Amino acid sequence: STIMPTLLVTGGAGFIGANFILQAIKSQWANVVNLDKLTYASNLQTLAEIASNPNYHFIQGDIGNVELVSYLLEQYQPDAIINFAAESHVDRSILSPHDFIQTNVVGTFQLLEASRLYWQKLSSTKQQQFRFLHVSTDEVYGSLQPQDPAFREDTPYAPNSPYAASKAASDHFVRAYYHTYGLPTLTTNCSNNYGPRQFPEKLIPLTILNALDSKPLPIYGDGQNVRDWLYVIDHCEAIYLVLQQGKVGETYNIGGLNEQANLTVVERICAILDELAPKSNSHYSSLITFVKDRPGHDRRYAIDCSKISRDLGWQPQENFDSGLLKTVQWYLNNSDWVNQVRSGDYQNWLKQNYENR
Ligand code: NAD
Repeated sequence: STIMPTLLVTGGAGFIGANFILQAIKSQWANVVNLDKLTYASNLQTLAEIASNPNYHFIQGDIGNVELVSYLLEQYQPDAIINFAAESHVDRSILSPHDFIQTNVVGTFQLLEASRLYWQKLSSTKQQQFRFLHVSTDEVYGSLQPQDPAFREDTPYAPNSPYAASKAASDHFVRAYYHTYGLPTLTTNCSNNYGPRQFPEKLIPLTILNALDSKPLPIYGDGQNVRDWLYVIDHCEAIYLVLQQGKVGETYNIGGLNEQANLTVVERICAILDELAPKSNSHYSSLITFVKDRPGHDRRYAIDCSKISRDLGWQPQENFDSGLLKTVQWYLNNSDWVNQVRSGDYQNWLKQNYENR
């Protein structure tokens, strides 16, 4: 029998990391050690179904804690690290950038440093096989006009929000660790993810859950800001492929081939809910409320993912209609998860930040 590789996954209690770990454990891709600080954005309940699987281990802790990370690396001897851990919400980065610098910049640097020290002690065969895969965003490339070509891997960085700037800085450190020390790094830059298990501060789950509660569906500005939407399961498969076959030192853009205006996204969710959970006296779209635009709101992001398609044979499998339908169904069928995640911290934050909208 083949020996499964061991992955140290950081931020695995968040949206994308948890979806990745569920897939990795269920498909027996790897043994997984999940290091997560458990910030407001995390939810261990998402991983309850695999919590007692012998191939899965959870450790609460900070990627910036070099002693802890070094200990885990010695203890578990992972074949690769996948860094999902981050502060990830643009609006929060505008209100309070500090945590973004601390985790996304300093934390990633500390994680790289611990990884380098571990990697340098490996045998030369193991050194060659080792991978540090850093998960990043298309927001590092800035904003596009409607007629502009989509972001490519060689598009210059031009981050506009504190979130994007912090991710850009982390990408640069990953690059530097490859060029300076030879650490075998990979970086992926993806578009907006959607799908099951996403914390309901992001557009799609926020819209679904507000609609079900008959609350306003806030839309920034004129609703014509365009994002590319990537189904989270497609993204996880792309990451796994890059991990196995990606060329060391390179970056890969991952997109859903699916650009949509925010207003269109919200209208489609309303139409799905009108079908699946109809209200007797009105359509969900009557809840749509335009609110003051986000400061510095990027107009459009679009990903050119021809490199990963050409070099590694990856294509997104989900189209937006089927992906959105699955997502809405998941939230309708998982009210326990929803109730848990919406209590406590999240409620307080919502009150502070969304009450006056
Ligand atoms: P998320 O906010 O849902 O989860 C982040 C996780 O990281 C949480 O569980 C949190 O507790 C953990 N974390 C935060 N700070 C930590 C620290 N210092 N040490 C250890 N753990 C820490 O984020 P997500 O949506 O799953 O995004 C994962 C990654 O993908 C991030 O790096 C993000 O920048 C990137 N990304 C996300 C999207 C998207 O649409 N969600 C798009 C592009 C890129």
